[in-house]
Amino acid sequence: MLGIEHPVVQGGMQWVGLAELASAVSNAGGLGIITALTQPTPGDLLKEIERCREMTDKPFAVNLTILPTIKPVPYDDYAQAIVDSGVKIVETAGRNPEPYLPRFKAAGIKIIHKCTSIRHSLKAQKIGCDMVSVDGFECAGHPGEDDITNLILLPLAARRLKIPFLASGGFGDGRGLAAALALGADGINMGTRFMATKEAPIHQNVKQKMVDASELDTSLIYRTLRNTARVFKNSVAEQVLEIEAQPGQTKFEDIQPLVQGLKGRELFDDGDLDKGIWSAGMVVGLIDDIPSCEELITRIVDEAEEIIQQRLGNMLNA
Ligand code: NAD
Repeated sequence: MLGIEHPVVQGGMQWVGLAELASAVSNAGGLGIITALTQPTPGDLLKEIERCREMTDKPFAVNLTILPTIKPVPYDDYAQAIVDSGVKIVETAGRNPEPYLPRFKAAGIKIIHKCTSIRHSLKAQKIGCDMVSVDGFECAGHPGEDDITNLILLPLAARRLKIPFLASGGFGDGRGLAAALALGADGINMGTRFMATKEAPIHQNVKQKMVDASELDTSLIYRTLRNTARVFKNSVAEQVLEIEAQPGQTKFEDIQPLVQGLKGRELFDDGDLDKGIWSAGMVVGLIDDIPSCEELITRIVDEAEEIIQQRLGNMLNA
């Protein structure tokens, strides 16, 4: 459906999903994703898509995330830019994408909707999405409020969905890919793991910090606001949690100066790891090197093939 060689899709990461990374993933046979809101205007998004086209002739997608933001976002204009760009795959996330579907469908665009629950996946199927990306509690960024891990979500998705689906959250190696396929998914979506690659357009300090981290190094912030986000556990995340732990309802204004996305962008640029927050999933515990996207995808696919043919095959033949 996506016209890609390997069942590996790059997550739509704010400030990270630039043409450099998206084209590297697509050139390696996966599906690279440009993040729409990383571009300051819809016009800049069009230019970024053009830049990506100059770097790859393989398919790539654009992510459009619809969640609360500090500055209002002209979602409609971003959606129109995606249509005008001629890109043929879009990943929507955050909220029901129904208002944009007629336009996307009329342009022949395949829609992958990212969902953190089965009920939202079923709704996405009902409204005509072509595929869903099922995002378990392990994931980076916004895992929703249900806290269901992929060992439960993925088999449920396999039982209930008729459309294909990707497994997202906690994936970073060939064992994960083989497990996702066994659980019924058609491929995996990886965000955090692609941040620790040579082509990810972020500071080396961030990549190295994720290599050094363990599975215990993420925090869940904004729980009190019902906009939960899993981020790397740094001093800023801990300050946010302290504010949220105070009695009474947390006001977003109390934490806004700490969490604004622009600080996260600066952190990615200058490598000052306590400047802001950045999204990271539990999979940081499985990251111990910084390969190229090509090396990473090849390794994951080879490892998964070996597990399926050798380890699992031998169990059947034993
Ligand atoms: P931003 O600077 O506008 O906001 C920073 C963070 O605060 C975001 O997580 C946002 O959801 C949250 N936020 C903003 N206003 C809020 C409110 N009134 N109540 C509760 N939470 C609020 O956002 P950004 O960092 O520039 O990111 C742009 C978009 O990308 C946002 O929609 C954000 O949620 C999304 N995003 C998603 C992920 C992910 O992993 N899924 C990661 C980073 C950002």
